Amino acid sequence: MKNKNTVLLLGVASILILISVQVFIIIGIWKQKNEAFTLKYTVLSKDALTYISRRMPSDGFDTVRLLLSSYSVKANKELHSITDPSALAEKKSDVLTYFNKVISQEQYLSGMLASFFERAGFDNKFKVQIVINSLEMIDQDTIVVYRNSDFNFRRMQTTTTKPGNAFKKRPMIFVNWYASEDNNYRLLFDYYIDFSDRNKLILKEMSGSLGLSNLSIILVGIMFMITYRNLQEERRLSNLKTDFINNMTHELKTPLSTITVAGKTLEMPQIRGDDSKILETAKLIGKQSVHLNQLINMILEISMWERTQFQLDKKKVDIGEVMNDIVDSFKNGGGNSALITKKYDLTGTQVDLDVVYFTTLLNNLLSNAVKYSDKEPEIDIEGFTTDNTVCIRVTDNGIGISKIDQKHIFDKFYRATTGNIHKFKGLGLGLYYVKKIAEAHGGDVTVSSRIGKGSTFTVTLPTA
Ligand code: ADP
Repeated sequence: MKNKNTVLLLGVASILILISVQVFIIIGIWKQKNEAFTLKYTVLSKDALTYISRRMPSDGFDTVRLLLSSYSVKANKELHSITDPSALAEKKSDVLTYFNKVISQEQYLSGMLASFFERAGFDNKFKVQIVINSLEMIDQDTIVVYRNSDFNFRRMQTTTTKPGNAFKKRPMIFVNWYASEDNNYRLLFDYYIDFSDRNKLILKEMSGSLGLSNLSIILVGIMFMITYRNLQEERRLSNLKTDFINNMTHELKTPLSTITVAGKTLEMPQIRGDDSKILETAKLIGKQSVHLNQLINMILEISMWERTQFQLDKKKVDIGEVMNDIVDSFKNGGGNSALITKKYDLTGTQVDLDVVYFTTLLNNLLSNAVKYSDKEPEIDIEGFTTDNTVCIRVTDNGIGISKIDQKHIFDKFYRATTGNIHKFKGLGLGLYYVKKIAEAHGGDVTVSSRIGKGSTFTVTLPTA
């Protein structure tokens, strides 16, 4: 268990490390691509501006300037006549809003930029963002309407690609700064572009590395699952083997101790004179020896099956007749306490069968039906043919088998009551035999069962 937990912990830890490394790498690539995206469109914008400035004499804000200029005359008058500070602050805010609204309506430059991008084969679905850095209204004196606290005047001397601090977190791309001035106002503003599908575009570029990274995580996950499952299976088999050895020891001990006691009995002087007692004890020894022999043969046969292919001695037989013989002798033997009903008429149905193995198969199903019962056993045996198959169904009214156990009962050594619990004796080999024999004949066996209600085993075999 300790070993299993270590493997589990190591596995989970290595997968977590792998995922973290991958996430780290992906974030690194994402950052790089993001920067490359900004750089690409910054360079492209500069090219576009150079191209545009060669084709048109103005910077594209002429119409906007006209509007602002005529508004400034009126705004100046109002601003300069207000003395109340709060009314002045309100007016300043109105002026700023108006300036913002008007320059944001600029369309000429953005239209030119979009068509330049398109012609260059790049994405052109961007939104324009205009950021006012400083606005002053000039009359007899100057009123500062607004000044962006992050604004750095020195930045205007260089064509920096970095937006002001307030916009650092937003993926906007700085295109250019503009100054606009007349007798009534002085305005400094930045022109940015912002791609709404920027993340999508970057993700598309990263799809190759993302795919490979996901694939490697999935593959390692699958490898880990397989290894863990194998480990669990190994553990289960080892538990089964331990159970088997416990059960086998118990099974072998019972006839052995009976034989030992019987031997001791024969040594007693009062028994030696009594012929009937001697005969009875000898018969007991004989019966227990046969049982011992059967157990040992069973174990030997299993190990033989492991090494060699199943060797069947098949003959074409009437399966109805064979079943009648088996059921009748079962009734006269171990199954005499059970109410067995034959609900089949398979006379004339020919099957290529190894009768000896088939007898073991049916006997195992019948004896289980008797063994795993907590009341008077009632067993129905049905039989019918479909297409080229004969189906034999053994239904009992026994204790039933849980859904989980149903998955394993045909496994070697598996017993629903695991551990050294001997309420029902057994080695966990009977149904394993049944399955092996059915498969060796080209058929199969399945189970359906409900706890407390009973079980139905269905054997299918190909007809001759
Ligand atoms: P064994 O009987 O020696 O334990 P089997 O391979 O014949 O081994 O059966 C495997 C397990 O399946 C049994 O331990 C028992 O729990 C369950 N089982 C088999 N047949 C029946 C049945 N008819 N009713 C209920 N449980 C059954």
